[in-house]
Amino acid sequence: MTVLIKNEADLIRTAREFARSQIAPNASAWERDRRIGLETLKKAAKLGFTGIQVPVDQGGLGFPFSCKARIMEIFAGEDFGFALSLVNTHNVAEKLAREAPSRLIMAYVPDILAANKLGCTALTETGAGSDVAAMQTSATRVSGGWILQGEKAWIANATRADVIIVYAQTEAGSGTSGIAAFVIDAKRPGFIREPNFDVVGQHSIGTGGFRLDGYEVPSDEMLAPPGKAFKSVIDEINGARVYVAAMCCGMVDKALQTCAEYGRHRTTFGKPLNSRQGLRWRLADAEIDLTAARLMVRQAAARIDEGIDAQLNAAQAKVFATRMAERHLPALIQAMGAEGLHERYPLCRHLIGSRVACYVDGSTEILLERIASLVK
Ligand SMILES: Cc1cc2nc3c(=O)[nH]c(=O)nc-3n(C[C@H](O)[C@H](O)[C@H](O)COP(=O)(O)OP(=O)(O)OC[C@H]3O[C@@H](n4cnc5c(N)ncnc54)[C@H](O)[C@@H]3O)c2cc1C
Repeated sequence: MTVLIKNEADLIRTAREFARSQIAPNASAWERDRRIGLETLKKAAKLGFTGIQVPVDQGGLGFPFSCKARIMEIFAGEDFGFALSLVNTHNVAEKLAREAPSRLIMAYVPDILAANKLGCTALTETGAGSDVAAMQTSATRVSGGWILQGEKAWIANATRADVIIVYAQTEAGSGTSGIAAFVIDAKRPGFIREPNFDVVGQHSIGTGGFRLDGYEVPSDEMLAPPGKAFKSVIDEINGARVYVAAMCCGMVDKALQTCAEYGRHRTTFGKPLNSRQGLRWRLADAEIDLTAARLMVRQAAARIDEGIDAQLNAAQAKVFATRMAERHLPALIQAMGAEGLHERYPLCRHLIGSRVACYVDGSTEILLERIASLVK
């Protein structure tokens, strides 16, 4: 595909064509081979999808957050894992382009934008998920920099990532205020990648972990100091919640189209399936909730674009959209009969995608707590 991207509408049209021609035909193979879709990520990078929000003067497209959310919705319609992997690489390029010293920008951003290097962001550990302050990975001050020690787990892209933004505790017992962010290069001594996690599906996410064993970080590779790092996570996570909600919309939209199309051709007891109330009402219910979820996503994304606090809207959108996906994906698969289980459709992969969506960037329960604290 060779296209000239002049505006957001061009990019969204290109994303639809890319999803149809490049993601859909390959996604089952990524699942079967239990791997990230690296070659397709590189093709996506050529079209600018690794730099949607990266400033133009840093080699990106400079489009707003809402454009990124819309594109992740389109990509997730074919493969949730591909979209999650891509957006994690995108986010590392964007964060470095905006916050890193120019030496690090030059060293990493062009390669990440080209998907020659993949990125990931690592907070979670085996003993610390929702409770970020419980992280045990430590950063110890030494002359000229820091020494990092610890383990990260359940990280998207960790099976392949080259550039990693790692969060580590600089002062035991200081909670979130002691957490700092560092740029890690997977090629350097002290970085030890763990084997791929044996998850049941969505292997294109590249879920895994790694150890840092005496990893040396020069001072200028600290991306955010204690006191600032956790605050920036909180700011950025609202965006992540919104694009994950958008990705749930993409999965349900695809399931709706697939189910409606199947219902037009399948006949039972002498009548087309789409004349049966069982199928028609399932489609209608899914369509209603999908429209509501999209409106919530759009509202939250607009607030992010305008720089207005989006905590409540982002949390609401993610809880609503993940529940919508968990309710309607099984119902739409059921409406197709056994055919709904076939790997020629993405619907069963989407089931695991909707499960993953309930954990990443804040689990449903943590978001309900957040919403409760904001509305009281
Ligand atoms: C495929 C995948 C990719 C991921 N990618 C990344 C990544 O790139 N980077 C990263 O840092 N992390 C990543 N994560 C980790 C994700 O952010 C965590 O799974 C999430 O924060 C929840 O942590 P946990 O799984 O350890 O659950 P826990 O924190 O152990 O919680 C277990 C259960 O208890 C509930 N719970 C916990 N505390 C409370 C409470 N106070 N009140 C009510 N309920 C509570 C939770 O909602 C959950 O249902 C990924 C996870 C998955 C599955």
